[in-house]
Amino acid sequence: MSGNNYDVAVIGGGINGVGVAQAAAAAGHSVVLLEKQGLAAGTSSKSSKLIHGGLRYLESYEFGLVRESLRERALLLELAPDLVQLQKFLVPLYRKTRRGPLLLRTGLSLYYLLSGMNAEARFTSVPRSGWDSLNGLRTDNLRAVFRYTDARTDDALLTEAVMRSAQQLGAELLCPAMFCGAEVHADGCELHYRTGEWERSCSARVLVNAAGPWINEVATKITPTPPKISVELVQGAHIAVPGSLGDDFFYLESPRDGRAVFVMPRDGYLLIGTTETRYRENPDNVRPLPGEESYLLGVLRHYFPGFGKINRSNLLNSWAGLRVLPGGPGHAFHRSRETILQPDRRDRPRVLGLYGGKLTTYRATASKVIERIAPSLISRKPVADTARLPLSLG
Ligand SMILES: Cc1cc2nc3c(=O)[nH]c(=O)nc-3n(C[C@H](O)[C@H](O)[C@H](O)COP(=O)(O)OP(=O)(O)OC[C@H]3O[C@@H](n4cnc5c(N)ncnc54)[C@H](O)[C@@H]3O)c2cc1C
Repeated sequence: MSGNNYDVAVIGGGINGVGVAQAAAAAGHSVVLLEKQGLAAGTSSKSSKLIHGGLRYLESYEFGLVRESLRERALLLELAPDLVQLQKFLVPLYRKTRRGPLLLRTGLSLYYLLSGMNAEARFTSVPRSGWDSLNGLRTDNLRAVFRYTDARTDDALLTEAVMRSAQQLGAELLCPAMFCGAEVHADGCELHYRTGEWERSCSARVLVNAAGPWINEVATKITPTPPKISVELVQGAHIAVPGSLGDDFFYLESPRDGRAVFVMPRDGYLLIGTTETRYRENPDNVRPLPGEESYLLGVLRHYFPGFGKINRSNLLNSWAGLRVLPGGPGHAFHRSRETILQPDRRDRPRVLGLYGGKLTTYRATASKVIERIAPSLISRKPVADTARLPLSLG
């Protein structure tokens, strides 16, 4: 294919969009990716920056998702050592903590099992004699402390690295390029986009809508409008405060509502997140709320008395991103975090919507997308396998 005709057009330069571009190019297809603002400008630079199985998803019995995430974690540690590194986490349990030591021990054992009993995934309990050296962590009413291993990354740099890999395989990146609309015909789509003052068009056999929180807004611009899934956008805020706490990350339970909150020492500051607040406005305008910043500061002050005087005026920075969760009754916490693929038609889809997902599982998700759209594409000779392609800082 040449010129303005592509096998696959991807809307959205977040981790999922670039993952699909990489997988499609690796499968030998011609690919164009349209990003309106900048790579990782959306949710993919606002995450907790963890490459993890998601210990807390065990509570909602999402064993398949946890196993897949742990498999991807192991792969990324191998493929992207500059971008993904192992990270120790401490989980302190107090008299009033909702999850007791037995439950946590069971969860961590299951986590270890689901990781394929990888030596790195072993957990330990920190003996009482070591509690005073936990970097100022409150020790009154402390019952137990566990240490386990997951991984950390830089979400924006990872996104850029995957796009670079896709480009090395021949994918084209158009950025900034705002998708404005598409007409779907028998064998594909005609797409329209804006770069600067110019309106341009191209065609593709399949359009993959990976626009994250903007997914249904993008879907509405397609004629005929493909089936959409009703979603709930849930805002998650992070704050950065000055300070250091050694090398371990802390997995804490908010004393206010029992939610999991991470306190993560980064280079010279502490990254703390996250919240869960329903969001109904334009995704372009998502911002942390004062109440979210106070909530996260409250967790820090509660567990680390040395930070007792810190308040909102001390914040170095704060930001918020949006989770895309399937709509439904009950609290968002209990909704599935699995990715949902929504085609415009069952056989030979011309449009595929990618709802939800995790940073960690972008590669597995992209493989599923390619499998799902393969019947709509001309069979081509694969040029690479994404499970073997190294990713680097560039
Ligand atoms: C607070 C929070 C913490 C998280 N922490 C973690 C974590 O630690 N680990 C983990 O694995 N996962 C985590 N996640 C999940 C993960 O961050 C997201 O699933 C992932 O980043 C979503 O990527 P995406 O590519 O689907 O969407 P996005 O990154 O939002 O990308 C969508 C892109 O589409 C572009 N776009 C929109 N409309 C148009 C248009 N008309 N034309 C062109 N481009 C358009 C946007 O500019 C944007 O760049 C977290 C999520 C949140 C909200």
